[in-house]
Amino acid sequence: MTLDEARARDAADPLAPMRERFALPEGLIYLDGNSLGPLPRTTRAAIDHVVDRQWGERLIRSWNEGWIDAPARIGAKIAPLIGAAADEIIVADSTSANLYKLLVAALRHDPARTTIVSEKGNFPTDLHIAEGAAAAVPGARLHAVDRSYLAAAIDAQTAVVVLTHVHYKTAERFEMAQWTRTIHDAGALVLWDLSHSVGAVPVDLSGAGADLAVGCTYKYLNGGPGAPAFLYVRRDLQDRLANPLSGWMGHAAPFAFTDGYKAASGMQRWLVGTPPILAMRALEAGVDLWADVDQQMVAAKSATLFDILAQAGDVLGLECVSPRDPTARGSHISFRHPNAYAICQALIARGVIGDFRDPDILRLGLTPLYLSHEDVWRAGEILGQVLTDQSYTDPAFAERLAVT
Ligand SMILES: *Cc1c(COP(=O)(O)O)cnc(C)c1O
Repeated sequence: MTLDEARARDAADPLAPMRERFALPEGLIYLDGNSLGPLPRTTRAAIDHVVDRQWGERLIRSWNEGWIDAPARIGAKIAPLIGAAADEIIVADSTSANLYKLLVAALRHDPARTTIVSEKGNFPTDLHIAEGAAAAVPGARLHAVDRSYLAAAIDAQTAVVVLTHVHYKTAERFEMAQWTRTIHDAGALVLWDLSHSVGAVPVDLSGAGADLAVGCTYKYLNGGPGAPAFLYVRRDLQDRLANPLSGWMGHAAPFAFTDGYKAASGMQRWLVGTPPILAMRALEAGVDLWADVDQQMVAAKSATLFDILAQAGDVLGLECVSPRDPTARGSHISFRHPNAYAICQALIARGVIGDFRDPDILRLGLTPLYLSHEDVWRAGEILGQVLTDQSYTDPAFAERLAVT
């Protein structure tokens, strides 16, 4: 694609007005919204309101003026993005903590089934938490296998299969309905991690008949650093699974202050402690931006943005590890290069922020809400400059920072 063609695409882009709703620094090309979404313009005022009016003036009365309902209310706003009903999702804790709650619950659901199956190379916390969840249930174990062996690893011992729908490195996407069917045929439950899917690709948990899901909100939902995560439990399973972290917010009557634990019905039981209201309000501002957004438009633009960079990569002879078929991937593009870290740093020095994933992946997020075709075209140009003039070989770009 030429610069003129990219500009013509922008002129006809129905999502172009969304960019104004983000406070992105001038001159920066931000290709890391798949790791930390940018600041929505409405977030600051929303937080100020919580601080000044609700906390500052209304004080504890605010719990009955919208605070206590935040986990369910914000969950209901996320629901249409993942094909869930409003009462099948709740916002709570981190993705890691929610994985733990659901995995232990799934293991305890049918004691005859003792295995968690997952994919080697899954996002690290998913495997770490699965290991910890298995350790918490006598006789249980984690069986992590290469993607090509997954189907063979699912058997009569399998309690739950935890899969990340869109792979954080390669952007490969599992075919959700088909895998859900395969897992159900073996009598197991499926838990989808939607961290790189929600707000990135259309998701239909109900259509797929999925059992369980978790997801992250500080990536494509722009909820802010460390924003609370969500979890999903299909309605007919809700009263059959128990939250192992039996905290008071998941109690049927938290304010009865009784000694014994009695789980709330519905999604409320997946709450643990008091919801973080400042973080919840920031998340809600991010989620509200999605209210008017057509998911199919996002998917179509994501595919075009991908093609612009894939084409640039082809010209440069870069190895693209992301699927070329848009229905088989998420909304980022990854290139493999032995100097990926230094290239990433050299790009940042030139105003193009992407990220690096160990050991050799340069990952560039393609977020249609606030990236123009011209931005992405320019990023391809700058990538070409960095590779051609070899500026990435500057030793300053080899130094590893704590967060990559
Ligand atoms: C980002 C991400 C997480 C994040 O987990 P936290 O508990 O928020 O740190 C988990 N799983 C996947 C697949 C992710 O991409």
